[in-house]
Amino acid sequence: MNPKGRSITIIGGGIAGLCAAVYALKCGYQVEVLEMHDMAGGLAMSWRRGPYTFETCLHWLLGSKPGGSFHEQWREVCDIGKLVFVNPQELTCIETASGDSLTIYTNADRLEAELLRRAPQDAVAIRDLIRSIRALAKFRMIDPSAGFSANWLNLLRDLPIFPLLRKLSRINGREYARRFSDPLLRSFFSEGDIGRMSAIAMIFSLAWMHEGNAGYCIGGSQALIRVIEENIASLGGRIRFNAKVERILVENGAAVGVELAGGETIQSDWVISAADGRSTLFDMLGGKYLSGTTRKMYAEKDLFTSYLQVSLGVALDLSAQPPMASCILDSPITVDPGADLRSISFRFFHFDPSFAPPGHCAVTSFLPTRNFTYWTELRDNDPVAYRAEKQRVADAVIAILEKRVPGVRSAIEVVDVSTPATIIRYTGNWKGTMEGWLIEPGAGFRPLPNTLPGLSNFYMVGQWIAPGGGLPSGLMTARPAIKAICQHDRVPFDVHAGAPHHQPAAA
Ligand SMILES: Cc1cc2nc3c(=O)[nH]c(=O)nc-3n(C[C@H](O)[C@H](O)[C@H](O)COP(=O)(O)OP(=O)(O)OC[C@H]3O[C@@H](n4cnc5c(N)ncnc54)[C@H](O)[C@@H]3O)c2cc1C
Repeated sequence: MNPKGRSITIIGGGIAGLCAAVYALKCGYQVEVLEMHDMAGGLAMSWRRGPYTFETCLHWLLGSKPGGSFHEQWREVCDIGKLVFVNPQELTCIETASGDSLTIYTNADRLEAELLRRAPQDAVAIRDLIRSIRALAKFRMIDPSAGFSANWLNLLRDLPIFPLLRKLSRINGREYARRFSDPLLRSFFSEGDIGRMSAIAMIFSLAWMHEGNAGYCIGGSQALIRVIEENIASLGGRIRFNAKVERILVENGAAVGVELAGGETIQSDWVISAADGRSTLFDMLGGKYLSGTTRKMYAEKDLFTSYLQVSLGVALDLSAQPPMASCILDSPITVDPGADLRSISFRFFHFDPSFAPPGHCAVTSFLPTRNFTYWTELRDNDPVAYRAEKQRVADAVIAILEKRVPGVRSAIEVVDVSTPATIIRYTGNWKGTMEGWLIEPGAGFRPLPNTLPGLSNFYMVGQWIAPGGGLPSGLMTARPAIKAICQHDRVPFDVHAGAPHHQPAAA
């Protein structure tokens, strides 16, 4: 059998690289995923410290509900039925130091009742919010790889929702928040990146949760990664760890393979980068294949923040706590020069029994910052000061938690602090961003081109071509890339769940 056009090298073993691997294997390609870390997942990550597991990624997975948007696509890449999903009743509880609080429920009826109870003066805006949540819950996502013929029915059904989509995607969270007078409700829509993003993003998330299609899977994001890895292994694919790609090899305008750190070269018919966008374009490809739009995007556009995560292993039963609490502080906490936070959030993982022994709880606190250089320079130049800074932030977070849960300090068994330097080291993501491009008002979710001018046999997948990022961006970008490769090679693209698998081509 002619192997031409039959082997694919995939750079990066995050969700996007793994999804691309499954689709390619199902179509009969030989696939090797090259991952620089010693495990798969990228940002979809957790780590174990003693008896505790600390999750950094998963809050909700779009597509968790059989029959809901995206569920079928997850079934194409893994046995999602093996995962156990929970749908917490509460998304978060916003609390002030004086004891005032507002619970954001995931069910729209309960949310409406809670908001009207708390802020009857905002009834008009509250009812409008709930109407929007209900309307967006009915929205069926279009499949970018499927074309008009497969999407026209969804488009027709969604037509009445388009004016609402347009309205909500033109304003950011802060502007949306102004329609409420209640300070806690305002704060929900205006804090941090939610306030900078197009309002549509948060309201879509509430809609998916209301529909029960954005659950949390027990075991966190790594549970999802593991079922995809199992599928790759069963299809005969290979993930090579500790394999950092330095360069994409190009001959006569076509990608022909990659060079690893250390000099080893790997030849293949196609190269897909599922790694950080900036290092793919500017380092691995030397900045040679950029359109004006892409260059402008990397020079000007905003990214989601980076963050520190303080993770605590607590020998206490904290099941009375909400799954997430957003605490508005009396005085700001200084994370680093440039990040003084007026509120911080805690996640109490009592709903995931795999994360701590009975009677114990894994607790994490997310501290956004854009000052990634402060942390990378400190780590590189002054490891002692780096450790001291991490300790200072951990102490400040523990002091806030102690006020909220008196007695917790003495039950803390494990303290772990990750910083933007950690994210960059383990995932390579530019500026330590948590999710790539921010969805700004007016810009929408439209993906960036997945090919580059002047370069053939190459595709990009993952959050760097899908503004808004998220785990589904792995699926949404991998599917069209492999479909296009199949079209080019005249290979049938038959990847639906349960489709017969083609035999890999002989080398
Ligand atoms: C705090 C946080 C909360 C989040 N919450 C959610 C959520 O609730 N729901 C949701 O859907 N999404 C969530 N996300 C977003 C989601 O995790 C990401 O958008 C998604 O995982 C990105 O996947 P990716 O494969 O595109 O990129 P990555 O995960 O960054 O994967 C890229 C991979 O490429 C590897 N790599 C990089 N450079 C090289 C190289 N030179 N050679 C070899 N390998 C390389 C990296 O090590 C990495 O494994 C969250 C993210 C964070 C950080």
